[in-house]
Amino acid sequence: MCGIIGIYNHPEASKLAYLGLFAQQHRGQESAGIVSNSGDGFLQHHEMGMVADIFDQSVLARLKGNQAIGHVRYSTHGGSSIKNCQPLSVTYSRGSVAVAHNGNIVNGGELRKKFEEEGSIFQTSTDTEIIVHQLAKEKPANFVDRLKNTLPRLLGSFSLVFLTKTRMIAARDPWGFRPLAIGKKDETYVVASETCAFDLIGATYIRDVKPGEIVIFNEKGMESIFFSPEQPKKHCVFEYVYFARPDSLIYGNEVYDIRKRYGQMLAREAGIEADVVVPVPDSGLPAAIGYAQESGIPFEMGLIRNHYVGRTFIEPEQSIRSFGVRVKLNPSHKTLKGKRVILIDDSLVRGTTSQKIIKMVREAGAKEVHLRISSPPTSWPCFYGIDTPSKRELISSSKSIEEIRDYIQADSLAYLSHESLFSFDPERGPKEFCSACFTGEYAVDRESILNHIARDELTV
Ligand code: AMP
Repeated sequence: MCGIIGIYNHPEASKLAYLGLFAQQHRGQESAGIVSNSGDGFLQHHEMGMVADIFDQSVLARLKGNQAIGHVRYSTHGGSSIKNCQPLSVTYSRGSVAVAHNGNIVNGGELRKKFEEEGSIFQTSTDTEIIVHQLAKEKPANFVDRLKNTLPRLLGSFSLVFLTKTRMIAARDPWGFRPLAIGKKDETYVVASETCAFDLIGATYIRDVKPGEIVIFNEKGMESIFFSPEQPKKHCVFEYVYFARPDSLIYGNEVYDIRKRYGQMLAREAGIEADVVVPVPDSGLPAAIGYAQESGIPFEMGLIRNHYVGRTFIEPEQSIRSFGVRVKLNPSHKTLKGKRVILIDDSLVRGTTSQKIIKMVREAGAKEVHLRISSPPTSWPCFYGIDTPSKRELISSSKSIEEIRDYIQADSLAYLSHESLFSFDPERGPKEFCSACFTGEYAVDRESILNHIARDELTV
């Protein structure tokens, strides 16, 4: 759960990187950083917090150069601290390299252990640092050749953008777990996790970095090589369900369009008589629009969101998170009083948010509350870059739908079917997508993931 940006060949590269991070703030709100290439070396700025607070005119003016990469972080691996902020910038025997990473390297622990046994010293607890250690170890003189040797050793998800002395380089894991798109603005190339970054910068989307591809941006333009033979694609479907911004094109589809379709399918599969369709803002909004259109039941903003607090889930401690629901959402009493309400949210994880929201909706006078979730039950933790709690904290891993309904105190509860999750493209899905959070079918490094889950279950 991170966002990355890369700008090649623009006199104000760091300012464009800042805009790109600003557009992708939803992908990570813990920390942000930019590294620019001044021509005389790298310049960098990292801080904990939000993009708009971290960077100001004077900071960006200091980050000189025609090339810059940036990162917004939400830790899925390595703690939340300043030393783990990215991009990671290092100097080694062959010069300097900076890297920004979105993803999670499943065999990272194993690789780190091997390096440490050989005497390596790690500065951070991120799995990203393993990549630069391996790069430094590789023999070939050319950076791209070293990268070509390094990347096949990594199992899991990685969308990467590097800065070297003369080039910017993007790469994506062979399964294409996380998105990574290429855009262009005049002679400037832009790489971003999401295309909403291009819109703010004024760049045009060209294409995605392909799974297993390394794209090199240099004075000749853009060159492509592959570091891996073709693998079955495993694009993360949760980007569609929850994570990506609705105005982004992800794996070639517009997220808003897909979420609205999920709502339509939900109305067909789990329709119920009611007076109003109410989204849990913002994550349930497009699906609620789709549900209302399909069912003919009026759409109403029965819950109003305060936009000046971050996503509640981001807070790590239970007490802060519970508090967050009340701070973030407030009911419109007139809209809900005496009504049979269909509440739409994109996913149910621990169930704590839904329980509180339903209570709030009832207290506002709703006669009935029917919860509809625009994805299947989340029963398995993600190891490929989305932050989900351990299996035992996922409510649907141990409770039936009826038990969950009882826990959250809804009048009825229904989820989108797994089949409908891929109705936007029955040809490509489900085989080209990872939906392990719903099915437990981990496609990459399965054994070690299952071992990890089993160990975790034992440490209750
Ligand atoms: P819960 O109370 O744990 O069931 O939280 C469900 C809410 O969390 C839904 O409104 C989702 O939009 C949101 N959500 C789902 N997955 C994530 C995630 N990985 N990070 C942050 N929020 C999430």
